[in-house]
Amino acid sequence: MGSSLLRLPYSGSVMLRSMNAAADIASAVRSGEGCAREIVAQALDRAEAVQKRTNAFITLARAEALVRAEVIDARREAGDPLGPLAGVPVVVKDNICTKGIRSTAGSRSLDTFIPPYTATVVKRLEAADAVVIAKSNLDEFGMGGSSESSLFGPVRNPWDLSKVPGGSSGGSAVAVATGVVPLALGTDTGGSVRQPAGFTGVIGFKPTYGRLSRYGVMAFASSLDQVGIMGRGARDLALALDAMAGHDPRDATSLQGNPPHFLEAVDSVRDLSGVRIGVVSELSGEGNSPSVSEALHRTREVLERLGAKVSDLSLPYVRYGVPSYYLVATAEASSNLARFDGMIYSARVGDNGEGQARVMMRARGEAFGPEVRRRILMGTYALSAGYYDAFYGKALKVRRLIATDFERAFACVDLLLTPTAPTVAFDLGEKVDDPLAMYLGDVCTCLANLVGLSAVSVPAGFAEGDLPCGVQFLSPPLQDERLVGLVAVLEREAGGGFAPLAPV
Ligand code: GLN
Repeated sequence: MGSSLLRLPYSGSVMLRSMNAAADIASAVRSGEGCAREIVAQALDRAEAVQKRTNAFITLARAEALVRAEVIDARREAGDPLGPLAGVPVVVKDNICTKGIRSTAGSRSLDTFIPPYTATVVKRLEAADAVVIAKSNLDEFGMGGSSESSLFGPVRNPWDLSKVPGGSSGGSAVAVATGVVPLALGTDTGGSVRQPAGFTGVIGFKPTYGRLSRYGVMAFASSLDQVGIMGRGARDLALALDAMAGHDPRDATSLQGNPPHFLEAVDSVRDLSGVRIGVVSELSGEGNSPSVSEALHRTREVLERLGAKVSDLSLPYVRYGVPSYYLVATAEASSNLARFDGMIYSARVGDNGEGQARVMMRARGEAFGPEVRRRILMGTYALSAGYYDAFYGKALKVRRLIATDFERAFACVDLLLTPTAPTVAFDLGEKVDDPLAMYLGDVCTCLANLVGLSAVSVPAGFAEGDLPCGVQFLSPPLQDERLVGLVAVLEREAGGGFAPLAPV
């Protein structure tokens, strides 16, 4: 595989074992055993091949990435210390701003937008010497669960090209699953990192609300949005989280105080003895496909073998999660997207001296796809005078009740276990005309966003049709490192085959 070839200064290319991991790439580049330029060039070549089959990328940043990699190599030769992600190629979802590199959110309204600044999370990855090689395809503005609603066309699942990769961070998930990069950024408003991670067999981590800066991340629903990370190993996730976490004065919602040490959590947690894990009854019975139930069952057995005390636990209000989420998310989206009016924000569609009113109408009507328009309409309705209390106000009350459910649960257990989604990856086109069916797929994931909790989807084997299946763990707020520690334990238990590479 291309990404495992390293240029040695004296003997040409050589195959090193386990060079798919960010940790290994970085230590090879730091020691001089690996050449950042070569690693990045190989990742770009691989991205091109994967693109042909899956449409996972919107923009490949070949020139920018190679320059950055050359600078890293030159700094090493000059004896400068390199960062913990030295030479590691990464992919960034296209609703996260990258200075000088087009960032479209998969929308016609931004199809020519080149940001004048870089999002804090990306800046911090770059400060750790990671190299952004591409911007990934997504559902328009992150609104969806299948990566089919992008202006740039649907993304395909590398395990079965007739299936969706999940969404909305489908392109990032594919980039990691196919080994183009060891790490990719997504955004998670209701599950958009975790569900595609589950559908493609990688790890998808959504931190506690506020743990990662959202400066430079295009807003969808501000009380729910959070940047998340996808990878194939706990150590890699920890490296990225350690690089990105920490207060950002440019984001008022970013948490104050020192972030946890994620790498330490990976190294310090040995087993799960004494850890109390609750399986959410409402999400583990009917409604799940048989293979999802089996994955849950298998996981339960593994947890018990590792010393955890697993019990069933009821959270009665979680069944109102989806209705509550779709009122809050659409209401906030209608407000956030109001700025795209064809004047300052949004590309102009057909501005031939038609006058301001017509330009605005086109920006609202033609520069957004049908799903985004649907959400703006629903959200505007939920917020309108006379309906506010009945819809948006009610949703906020339900959100509070769900939070109370979780507070009660975490008084009894340390972590919670649910499926990541009720099914494995479905057919392309299967749900695009049935929004309700698509929305119901968020039943397990949207809860962590409503409550602000950190949650992770981990690979839990393969289901029917050889498709990967994920399960989700949730931790109490601000205990993100517990989840990363848990992933490390599960990974060791799986003995290497935790997140196998997809065959593209
Ligand atoms: N599928 C959910 C939605 O469409 C979640 C999206 C997300 O997390 N960005 O709203």
